[in-house]
Amino acid sequence: MESLLEQLDEERAATPALVPVLLPVALDQTYDYRQPEADAAAGLRPGAFVLVPFGPQRRIGVVWDQAVGEGKPVAPSRLKAIDSVLDVPPLPEISLRFAEWIARYTLAPLGMVVRMMMSAQSVFEPASPRFGVRYVAEAADPPRMTPARQRVLDVASDSLIRVKSALAQEAGCSTGVVDGLVASGNLVEVAIPERRPARLEADHRANVFTDDQQRAVETLRSAVDAKTFSVSLLDGVTGSGKTEVYFEAVARALAQGQQALIMLPEIALTSQFMSRFAERFGGAPVEWHSALSPLDRARAWRWVAEGQARVVVGARSALFLPYPDLGLVIVDEEHDQGYKQDDRVHYQARDMAVVRGSLGAFPVVLASATPSIESHVNASTGRYRHVVLPGRYSGAELPEITGIDLRAEQPDKGRWLAPPLVSAVEETLAKGQQSLLFLNRRGYAPLTLCRACGHRIECPQCTAWLVEHRFRNRLHCHHCGFSLPVPEKCAKCGEEGGLVACGPGVERVAEEVAERFPAARLALLSSDLIPGLVEMRQVIKGIENGEADIIIGTQIVAKGHHFPDLSLVGVVDGDLGLAQGADPRAGERTFQLLHQVTGRAGRAYAGGRGMVQTYNPDHPVMQAIISGDRESFLAQEIRVRQRGLLPPFGRLAALVISARDKTLAENAAREIARAAPYSEKIQVLGPAEAPLAIIRGRHRWRLLVKASRELDIQSYIRAWMEAVPPIKGDLRLSIDIDPYSFL
Ligand code: ADP
Ligand code: ZN
Repeated sequence: MESLLEQLDEERAATPALVPVLLPVALDQTYDYRQPEADAAAGLRPGAFVLVPFGPQRRIGVVWDQAVGEGKPVAPSRLKAIDSVLDVPPLPEISLRFAEWIARYTLAPLGMVVRMMMSAQSVFEPASPRFGVRYVAEAADPPRMTPARQRVLDVASDSLIRVKSALAQEAGCSTGVVDGLVASGNLVEVAIPERRPARLEADHRANVFTDDQQRAVETLRSAVDAKTFSVSLLDGVTGSGKTEVYFEAVARALAQGQQALIMLPEIALTSQFMSRFAERFGGAPVEWHSALSPLDRARAWRWVAEGQARVVVGARSALFLPYPDLGLVIVDEEHDQGYKQDDRVHYQARDMAVVRGSLGAFPVVLASATPSIESHVNASTGRYRHVVLPGRYSGAELPEITGIDLRAEQPDKGRWLAPPLVSAVEETLAKGQQSLLFLNRRGYAPLTLCRACGHRIECPQCTAWLVEHRFRNRLHCHHCGFSLPVPEKCAKCGEEGGLVACGPGVERVAEEVAERFPAARLALLSSDLIPGLVEMRQVIKGIENGEADIIIGTQIVAKGHHFPDLSLVGVVDGDLGLAQGADPRAGERTFQLLHQVTGRAGRAYAGGRGMVQTYNPDHPVMQAIISGDRESFLAQEIRVRQRGLLPPFGRLAALVISARDKTLAENAAREIARAAPYSEKIQVLGPAEAPLAIIRGRHRWRLLVKASRELDIQSYIRAWMEAVPPIKGDLRLSIDIDPYSFL
């Protein structure tokens, strides 16, 4: 054996042309390939995308700069050759290092991390040049002129290049008419020139800042100038001008010729943000989010890789784009849960942004009105710079918040708004201002039950009730997407007409509002009711322009919007979200959400009000919201975390074991737990059946690993997993370092 290996090593050394290639699959290793034929080897270098034979298939992989993992040694004579190098910009070296870092930290296979970096399918497909048609001014009239032809020529006479179908649509005719005019020589087919991102100017518009803002601007600018790693927590109340302030840091990076990334929680990629950006920089940023078309994705990916994209505004996955020259990352609303990805590679994008800054030696700015406990602790220990904006730019006071004790002030039966909130909405309407009613629950009612037998309608595949969506007249599972039409009779006892809706969702609140205030104009904002991003932006724009009197919405209204006429925010169910026993962040999250949503009130002028309906007015979260005393709430939360060795004072990892068969999942979970190596600094809790015990028909068991801060929890888990029998068949194990979901 020994000698065989030695022999292989010698052969290897004698064959310098081996190329390690990483494939975007769930594997933690590179495979060696031979160099392609000389004429196909142009562009071969670390980071290059190559086509390689892999089993019976051809796959796209990335050339790595060193071998990763321990593959079985293969005799060089049996190695296959790389087919070709793709005409795609290579991943910069720093992307390779970043991918390795994430894989090591999250325990995800390196191949899966690299796959995230390739999430623009069309980049790797041969681009078909796109053609359009242009008007030929000097051509004679077509031999046969029809009204349709005339309309096409009228539209086209501006000499812009249009795709045939777009031209036909604009002229209100079929593409056949356009083809006819090409045949007659009145239109000519031309290749559509590649689009380029807008030109941005660092000093397009100069702002005048308040003293506090100016200090913050200076701090962030000097962080960019320093060209070294640092993290600043930009901590300012809603409306304090955080966006304007961090734009100056972006301007500085632009002026220095570096790329900048602004990360936003997905839904906040609003038209409002985009137009503010354009006003400041004289052009639009490059956008990156899940609603992009494949073509736009590919384009954005290339623009980033080629350095044409100077500023990217994107959701969490924008962090994995191939920036050759990144010099600044801003994470706006850094506390937002949307930064945690919970499938395949479990990562927290805010934390990974900090890692990227440290690898790339540049500053990272975390902005929020309600920073996460983690960032708060880092700021108070001096690990992060704490940049504070204490007041609203407009000078308006923060809204006055009151609690409505639902035990004393009960809504009428079958209604959800208590009398004080109803009166407040009336007063606001009378003043011609907007009210917002917030309920973080989509649909009409969270539970449907049979009055006759008490049967509750559950999802057949999940441990969850089906939620009625009345507009669509269906019951939906919010976990797996299962749905069925609202039944006429109970499936259990057969009683007809006895099914009743229990509890409110936003649709039900909208129904109550329509009955109570028939003259008011309503806007209902819920992701499932609005088909896409474009429509969502339109609805939000309408609200900004005062086209609604009462807005009813889920958490999408809580984020980043600036509604100038909004003066009252009513929280329909302040307690929602508190009752999540095992989740150490439930209190923090509820505080953030309620603070953000009530903070929408009265941003432009004085007299904003927030009202929170609650059955627990004495709960520390309610007390903190009502008193506005953020600091003492934070101090208390931090004490609780410290005592319980919870993040950021200790470290957590969650293991979820699942299978279609309950016993199989349970036994495997027990076996895995038994294999856990003993360590004084580690506690393994469980296995316990997950609170969401079944999802999509899979039974789920959880283990929670608690470790002290200084312990390398990854090494511990890696060693543990080596002692665990292989996970095979229908079993699945997912490992989530720093979990945010405890369901
Ligand atoms: P935040 O991000 O902290 O919620 P914004 O940056 O959105 O605050 O600012 C709130 C409002 O105040 C916005 O309409 C913004 O344009 C305006 N604003 C803030 N600072 C300035 C400034 N220095 N000059 C002009 N307008 C400002
Ligand atoms: Zn389901």
